[in-house]
This record gives sequence, structure tokens and C-alpha cells, in this order.
Amino acid sequence: MPEHLKKIETDKDPEFSAMVLYYYHKAAQVMEKELLKEMDQYSHFKPEEKQARVSAILNLIGSTCTSLEVSFPVIKSDGTYEIITGYRAHHIRNRLPLKGGIRYAMDVDASEVKALASIMTFKCACVNLPYGGSKGGVRIDPTKYTVKELQTITRRYTMELLKKNMIGPAIDVPAPDVNTGPREMSWIVDQYTKTFGHKDINAAAIVTGKPVHVGGINGRHSATGRGVWKAGDLFLQDKEWMDLLGWKVGWKDKTVIVQGFGNVGSFAAQFVQEAGAKIIGIQEAGFALTNNDGIDIDDLIKFKNEKKTIKGYSKAKETTENLLTAQCDILMPCATQKVITNENAKDIKAKLILEGANGPTTPAGEKILLDKGVLIVPDLYCNAGGVTVSYFEYLKNINHVAYGKMTAKTTSQLVFEVINSINESLKQTEGCTIPEIVPNMGLRRIRDCTTEAEIVDSALQTVMESSVIGIKAIAHQFQLCNDLRTAAYIWAIFKIFRTLESSGISQQ
Ligand code: GLU
Repeated sequence: MPEHLKKIETDKDPEFSAMVLYYYHKAAQVMEKELLKEMDQYSHFKPEEKQARVSAILNLIGSTCTSLEVSFPVIKSDGTYEIITGYRAHHIRNRLPLKGGIRYAMDVDASEVKALASIMTFKCACVNLPYGGSKGGVRIDPTKYTVKELQTITRRYTMELLKKNMIGPAIDVPAPDVNTGPREMSWIVDQYTKTFGHKDINAAAIVTGKPVHVGGINGRHSATGRGVWKAGDLFLQDKEWMDLLGWKVGWKDKTVIVQGFGNVGSFAAQFVQEAGAKIIGIQEAGFALTNNDGIDIDDLIKFKNEKKTIKGYSKAKETTENLLTAQCDILMPCATQKVITNENAKDIKAKLILEGANGPTTPAGEKILLDKGVLIVPDLYCNAGGVTVSYFEYLKNINHVAYGKMTAKTTSQLVFEVINSINESLKQTEGCTIPEIVPNMGLRRIRDCTTEAEIVDSALQTVMESSVIGIKAIAHQFQLCNDLRTAAYIWAIFKIFRTLESSGISQQ
């Protein structure tokens, strides 16, 4: 662990980028011996040469590749001028394109986007997506601007990044993040298509998270929240991990508090409620809603869509109490970084934490929770549903064909015809007493998986299932007990390390 990071373990408000580096180095330390073993392939290397190669690659993973700050003027609707600042950071560029969202918030700065870019590299590797990590942001409070002004800002920011070759379908592909969504992605595609991308057949692949009619994919909008639920589900249905918490498997009657009711929090709440959990609290900036009988999330979302806020919702009690520390089984921090710290961790009652946000838990906060036996499903894995479906959208764009368009009908027809053929043959077989064959649930699921949304959901399930197997195996192999974050980092670092190692590191 580098000297300057050692204090992070107890820091109550660590710098975000230092905190991500801390998690990275903590995992790298645990796995370093294994990485050294991989150097045995160089039989002519002396031990110190092996160590030097491992250290060099680990240092490379711990640094940022490129970071850009841009400033540009905008004229506001009232005639005043404003200089806007935006950022984009690239972490590891060995796997192109890079992938990572764009956020609009007042705390955005160079250091924050660098940290978030590195989380994206680890996240993509964690769920086996062939991308390096990136992140961008514009330092504005979007509520202070008209839609027209936001459009101007988005288009100017896009141009600045394009001029510097920082984004492009083959370079770095942004997506929604905090305070951005399909609308902003549409503006970016339009700006690119009209300018730098006017001859690019893959222009739609400049961003993901677009509206479906602009080349987006069904299921992307809800994907991060859906992934949070799937990630939680793959632990809640696993007896071995539930035994660790002393819980029965499944969601039924588990009480949940959601912090942050934006895109991720609202969809995650909807999915876990559908799975049988009871949402008893929603924490928003400055206030919260509680109802111990359960909050009807569909109804609350309807209210929010109409009123643009959840304040004033009458079927739950408004409170100023900090719900992060209220009694519940599962806590889902779904807003932003550093909300769980060593100041509140000791009072947190939840035994399972599903990190829908990026970096919501500080190392000092995590240490307290791990010591209490809390299971934290880390951001790298837990909120990877968004970028996973972004990957599907990107593939759809560069393949220029929607999922299922060419094959779904034939696949489903095949299942029907096979079952029909078997039944017809049985009928014709004299003396056959076997009753008519009916497809079981698994086969019916394949037969009925024909729409793009269904195909996306099942592909997301496959990704979440295969990566959780890896994370759990690493947790066992390195005897990490409930420290799933270190397991997820190790699982990701192995892959990044091998990619960099095989690429020859610095050979020209
Ligand atoms: N902003 C999301 C994240 O942090 C999605 C990124 C993407 O789809 O590229 O994972």
C-alpha cells in the first residue's frame, strides 16, 4: 500500500480518487503473490525482474492515462454569459473503446472523473466487458438551466471532446450518469452526426443510453436498477451466503431502505419490491419518506413523474431523520459517492448493502461494516447492469441490427416444431403410453424470449450470473470472508493485468 494511502483506512472524508486507489491497492496486495507466479512464464527472469514487471503493471493500473479539462462560454436565455467547465478522463486505454458516463453536478472536477474512470475499468473487467474505463462531467447544477441552455452546454461539451479526439465510437463511448439521460445522449448523437461523424456509418455508437428511436436498446433505461436487483438476488438466493447473515433465502418480507430516488434508485426499488421485499424508506437529499407497511413504488414513481419531486407524497410519512441508519434489512445507496463513512457506519442496522451508486462507501466506513459482519455487494458488480446493457446497445449499433430481428422467430418456432414432431411421432407409435410432451419452464422461457427487451434481460442475467461465480470463487480462494469488494477488485484486476501484460507493456 503506497504510504500516502495508508491514512485512507481511517479518514472520515477521504479524497474520492485516493479512496478508489486505496481499494485497488488493498486488492493488489492480496493477489500480488499470484501475479508473481504468472511471471514464471519468463523462465529467464531473475526474481527481482519478475517483481519489477508485476509492480510496473500494477502501477500502470493505478494511474490515469489521459485527463482533459475544457472551458467554453454559453450565453444564457437572459443574455448573461457564463464560462462552463467540463472534464473527461480515460483510465486504461488498452481495451478500446473506453466506456463511462457523463454527469452534470456541482462537485464534478478532474479528480472526481479520474476516480470514476478507474472504477469503470474495474467494473467492466468485473463483468467481462471488453472496455477500458472513462468518465466525464460538466460542473453545473442542471436545475439552474433551461432545457435550451442544457442543450447548448451538451453540444458545446461534445464538440470540445470531439476536437480533442477524446470521444468517438472507436475511442470512448459516453453514456448517462448522474443528472443526464436519454435526452442528453440524443443531443450528443445529433451533434456528432452533423459534424465529425457525418461520414461515420457507426455514428449512433458515439454514445449508449440513447432513446430507442435514436438507436438505443430496449431495457437500457432501467438496466442499472435491474442489475442492482439481479446482483442482490444472486446473493439472496444463495444459501451459503444467507447462512453467513443468518437469513432465510429470498426477498420475501425483507425490509429495504433506498437512498437516492433517481434513475437507479427508483428502478432498483421497483424490481426488489416486485421480488417480494418491502420498501420502508426512501432517502432523498434533505428529506425522506417512510412507511413501515411498505411504500408502493409504482405509485410513488407516478407521483414523481407528475410533480417532479417525491416531496408531498401523502401515502408515506415525511421525515428529516437520516434513514441510512434506520432499522432495515437491506440498504441500497443509489445516489452518489461517500455517503457511508466511519461517522454513520457504526449506526447502520442493515446487514446487506447493495451499492447502486459508484463509490458510496468509504474505506473507513467499510471497515466498520465488515467487522460487524455486514455483506456489501460492491458497486463494481452491483451497478454494472447499466454498462452491461450499454455494451449490448453498442453491439446493436455497430452490427446495425436489433436483437431478435433475424432469429427470434425461428428460435421460438424451432421449439414449437420439435415438441410437435415428438408428439406426432409418439401418437403414431403403436402401443405408446407416453402422454403428450409439454415444454417445461426453462424451455418455455427460451421459446417465449423473442422481444429485444426479453433478450436483453436474459443476456444481462447471464452476465450477472457468470461474474458472481467468479467473485464468490475469489472470496473463497483468498479467504476474504464477507469482503466482497476486495474479491470483485481481484477478479477484475487479474483480467486487466493479463491484458496489459500480454500487450507487452511499453514495447513500441
Ligand atoms: N454511468 C453508468 C455507470 O457508472 C453507465 C456507464 C455506461 O453505460 O457506459 O456505470
